[in-house]
Amino acid sequence: MKDGAADIYHLDAPPQVIAIVGGGISGLALAHYLRARGAECIVLESQPRPGGVIQTLDIEGLPLDMGPQRTRLTPEVRALIADVGLADEVLTASEELSLLVFRKGRLSQVPLSIRQAFTTDLLTWTEKARVLLEPLTGGLREGETAGGYFRRKLGGAAYEALIAPLYGGLYASDPDRMPARHALATTLRELGVKRSILWRALTARKGVSSAPPCSFRRGMRALPLALADGLGASLRTGCAVTGLRPRPEGGFVVALEDDDDVVADEVALCCPAGTAAGLLEPTAPDAAARLEQIRYNPLAVVHLKGDEDLVGAGYQVALGEGLQTRGVTWNAGLFGRPGLYTAFLGGMRNPAVVEEDDDRLGQIAADEFTHVTGCEVRVLHVGRTRIPAWDESWDALDGLRLPEGVHICANYAARPGIQGRLTDAKRLAARLAPNDVSA
Ligand SMILES: Cc1cc2nc3c(=O)[nH]c(=O)nc-3n(C[C@H](O)[C@H](O)[C@H](O)COP(=O)(O)OP(=O)(O)OC[C@H]3O[C@@H](n4cnc5c(N)ncnc54)[C@H](O)[C@@H]3O)c2cc1C
Repeated sequence: MKDGAADIYHLDAPPQVIAIVGGGISGLALAHYLRARGAECIVLESQPRPGGVIQTLDIEGLPLDMGPQRTRLTPEVRALIADVGLADEVLTASEELSLLVFRKGRLSQVPLSIRQAFTTDLLTWTEKARVLLEPLTGGLREGETAGGYFRRKLGGAAYEALIAPLYGGLYASDPDRMPARHALATTLRELGVKRSILWRALTARKGVSSAPPCSFRRGMRALPLALADGLGASLRTGCAVTGLRPRPEGGFVVALEDDDDVVADEVALCCPAGTAAGLLEPTAPDAAARLEQIRYNPLAVVHLKGDEDLVGAGYQVALGEGLQTRGVTWNAGLFGRPGLYTAFLGGMRNPAVVEEDDDRLGQIAADEFTHVTGCEVRVLHVGRTRIPAWDESWDALDGLRLPEGVHICANYAARPGIQGRLTDAKRLAARLAPNDVSA
């Protein structure tokens, strides 16, 4: 934050302009919150359509989400949805829907209550007894990986049956390669877990407000599109940012592919780490070198259509099952989209499968789905995307120093989920426009 920035809303001071590089949910939400606080900003998005990884295709009358399949209707998400006039479009799913894990050749329910923990067939009685020792184990240790932490706390079987597929699945990563201090430490802190996960789970249920999974009638893209609509001329699509030059008098020239440069006082980088690195390279080579190292996991997204609507939220595949599929979201069960399933393949453990051609990938996803569920399906669409790995390459961010006036608000720099993105964007908006003139 620049000195004197708190004075920017004095009547005789020109308003500051904040350039936002990237019109994914981070950049769009940041612009929304900035404008709500009376700040002037411009979102510069390289693609013709805003939304970043949140894209939805319409095929056979079904919305096929290529990135996130859902978010949670937390108070923050609900407020944003109301702000952008999407309340009538919201679809919520029952929180009672089972999440399943495919292990030892069968689907088993993930235990979400004490009763289910005792009755689940995911673990043997000996394995469950090991889990019950968890309160006797200590808190997070220096230098521990997420995998090491969970194995130490819950035992190897629970790790393989639950944590690797569920926690690893969130990032399409390998928890044994994820230093706990990067992603897990924040999650544990936010959940209030100090020493014991089980103890916290037992005591946290009371008073927790409900936040059901939600999507929109037209799919997840409805959210970025509504945000984009609200921005009007403050969003420019199809214009890639190609450079960032500090001005001698302060602020930056944000160079665009079409030469129609933008002058800004502050810049928020809401684009992937590699893009941010390229923009910072001439002026902040050390920061650029660090950002350049950030690794992403490749992921194939295959949409499948069957005749049956399976009841549940979907399944993750446990380690050692010999499948290429990491998990499948049951859109049919969640949001009543007839026979629609989204399979995710690849990730850190198996990046090579993402290189297969579309026909082969679709075949693998369909065959494995039938193997797991017994339901026949056909392939509707095969896509590819990537997701931050949160692995040891995040060590490069230790000591990251950005030039004054440059900020990062992106999914590799804080919580990657949509809720986390909104929180991060709101926080940065409050820093950049501390005087909320709308209040
Ligand atoms: C497959 C998948 C499934 C997911 N599932 C869930 C889920 O179920 N629930 C959930 O909450 N979250 C989920 N997530 C996470 C969440 O969707 C993402 O972390 C979040 O949408 C990322 O938003 P972002 O704006 O930070 O980045 P991005 O969406 O990557 O946006 C970055 C933007 O920058 C633009 N850009 C790049 N270079 C330039 C340039 N030079 N100039 C201008 N613009 C540029 C890009 O075009 C892009 O629009 C999922 C993510 C993926 C990939």
